[in-house]
Amino acid sequence: MNLVEQLRERRRAIEAEVATLAPVRPPRIVCVTKTHPVETVRAAVEAGNRELGENYASELAEKAAALRDLDVRWHFIGHLQRRQIKQVSGAASVVETLSRVVEAERLAALGFDGEVFVQVAPPDAPATRSGVPREGAPELVAAARSLGLRVVGVMGVALPGEEAPVRTFFRSLVALADELELPERSFGMSADWRWATTEGATILRLGTALLGPRPGSRANLSASEGVEVP
Ligand SMILES: *Cc1c(COP(=O)(O)O)cnc(C)c1O
Repeated sequence: MNLVEQLRERRRAIEAEVATLAPVRPPRIVCVTKTHPVETVRAAVEAGNRELGENYASELAEKAAALRDLDVRWHFIGHLQRRQIKQVSGAASVVETLSRVVEAERLAALGFDGEVFVQVAPPDAPATRSGVPREGAPELVAAARSLGLRVVGVMGVALPGEEAPVRTFFRSLVALADELELPERSFGMSADWRWATTEGATILRLGTALLGPRPGSRANLSASEGVEVP
């Protein structure tokens, strides 16, 4: 099997299982391409992945430019750093990681008109983690909306661990999205996507499960605190 066939097969197997676990409303799959070279990303797109996720602004901008001949939507799923927010705004169709009002102000000032998700921190997360505490989410959503941003969902990264607390966190995200009348719920990664699917995710963000292990991490990884990089 060549690479494209292999990647297509991985996606098909996951989609089949997702359809069994959530037949009524199966979540979409965002393929997380961070640290993978452009050639691999191109193969992933050819294999059927049309929504791609990146954590690092510069890497997102480089890949989006190198692959601009392809019909894909880029999701930014990393920490929104001040100096790089312009790159994100220019390249991403979706920003999943709004955590603070000041980030909303910067995105709005740049005229970002894509979709925005508010990232919610799991309970007991270390302070270095990205995300607004659950209690602060309604206010952040309201502030982002009043700035003209198109807020469509909540996003969360579970702390790795036992099934029960991960599911409890996912359930709290669903309740929050319902309360705020937000249609999208982005949670579930390679370790927990089955739980996420049965708990009602509308978007799974999958890297390893779709593409295999990530190639050696980049030098700027440590600059992106709060973002989960195994
Ligand atoms: C890296 C990453 C993913 C994908 O991780 P896998 O475990 O490889 O599926 C999803 N979401 C975020 C925010 C990430 O940083």
